Amino acid sequence: MDAREAALRRAHDHAVRWLASLSERPVPARASVEETVRALGTELPDDPSPPTDVVDLLATACEPGLTAFPSGRFYGFVVGGTEPAALAADWLVSAWDQNAVMRAASPACAAVEEVAGAWLLDLLGLPDGGAVGFTTGATMANFTCLAAARDEVLRRAGRHVGRDGLAGGPPVRVVAGRDRHMAVDLALRYLGLGAPSLVDADGQGRMDPADLRRVLAAGGPGPAVVVLQAGDIHSGAFDPFTDAVRTARAAGAWVHVDGAFGLWAAASPRLAHLTAGCADADSWATDAHKTLNVPYDCGVAVVRDPSALRAAMGLRGDYLIQHEQGDPVDTVPELSRRGRAFTVWAALRSLGRTGVADLVDGLCRHARAFAEGIAAIDGARVLNEVVFTQVCAEFGGDERTERVLARLLADGTTWISGSTWHGRRVMRISVSNWSTDDDDVARALDSIRRAAAGH
Ligand SMILES: *Cc1c(COP(=O)(O)O)cnc(C)c1O
Repeated sequence: MDAREAALRRAHDHAVRWLASLSERPVPARASVEETVRALGTELPDDPSPPTDVVDLLATACEPGLTAFPSGRFYGFVVGGTEPAALAADWLVSAWDQNAVMRAASPACAAVEEVAGAWLLDLLGLPDGGAVGFTTGATMANFTCLAAARDEVLRRAGRHVGRDGLAGGPPVRVVAGRDRHMAVDLALRYLGLGAPSLVDADGQGRMDPADLRRVLAAGGPGPAVVVLQAGDIHSGAFDPFTDAVRTARAAGAWVHVDGAFGLWAAASPRLAHLTAGCADADSWATDAHKTLNVPYDCGVAVVRDPSALRAAMGLRGDYLIQHEQGDPVDTVPELSRRGRAFTVWAALRSLGRTGVADLVDGLCRHARAFAEGIAAIDGARVLNEVVFTQVCAEFGGDERTERVLARLLADGTTWISGSTWHGRRVMRISVSNWSTDDDDVARALDSIRRAAAGH
């Protein structure tokens, strides 16, 4: 066995042990950053070490400081786990070490992007022929789509951003819901577009279409982009797409949808009504590392008009061998890049159409079980309409909710993050892991009951 094979076998053994530990290990990490630094050692050795020793040291030093993100009892942030086929595909991606830049450089990368991209459009109900880019996450997918939007609305106003820049050109007005995700603001900041004008939302975070009409009219004519949301991180709520898209179109705006986790409702016949009208937008951002459960990091940018995406992201280089129909590099902000579509392809191929629908339905069923279980606890209250995968609850005031959250974390059976929603401290549950089962939910609810009872 050569050193490379030995190191890979060692990594495989550590990985299998880690995965086997997930069903019983506490979800929060047991070691701090400082303890992990000490376990790793800070001295850079003068001499080489055998790869197997390096893998062993890394695995044993890091293990106590790992959070069980892929556990079925992790409900913090919006975090997916890893579908078995996608995880295994990810190992191959590392071994293959392809640069997903051009068709000519890696035909396999381009082919898998093409197939996985078409499957995504189909499953998410998005227009055939849309351009699909595989990014690091929804933040960069939002960035990619909004770059295409910015350049296109300015092009219609006679401004060529790639040549002339933004300075001295007409302003671009970006309008978004009050309860949009902060990643939208971040993308707008990268793009030099500043903070969005905000539209009122209802108690669940759904944009008020009448206020959208008012905000668009108040801004007058000129280049405009409207950002809608599929899946509010607190309530899981969806914007009223049909009405909002009609209003935005009437104002001549580009319509973009941030659907990091919520866009996946479209893949379930039982939930697709939540995204009704969404497919009439111009661009969509979603994540594969959340609801689809592929490993980090993988987001997806979709733009209806491929020429708009290529105009924003495409590049020409003398030393590149480029295809006249465009290359993977023309759909994303990066040049050299990991092949991210491989894990998406593997997850979709493994689940199939009904498997994806069942996955999304299952997450929502567990979210409803959480809501019912919490509502039955003395003094607890579920604050959102549980339409998707998110549950927000409070336990009789900010201080008590904070204490319940702290006891829950100390107990370690589950990981659930706190948040502030409409000025109130809340327990925020996001069911995003494919492996969560009824037993995980029952154990997590027991832990929440114990925390609420003060022990
Ligand atoms: C998670 C999330 C994002 C950011 O996605 P990353 O994958 O973390 O970059 C953006 N919008 C919404 C609604 C999200 O839930």
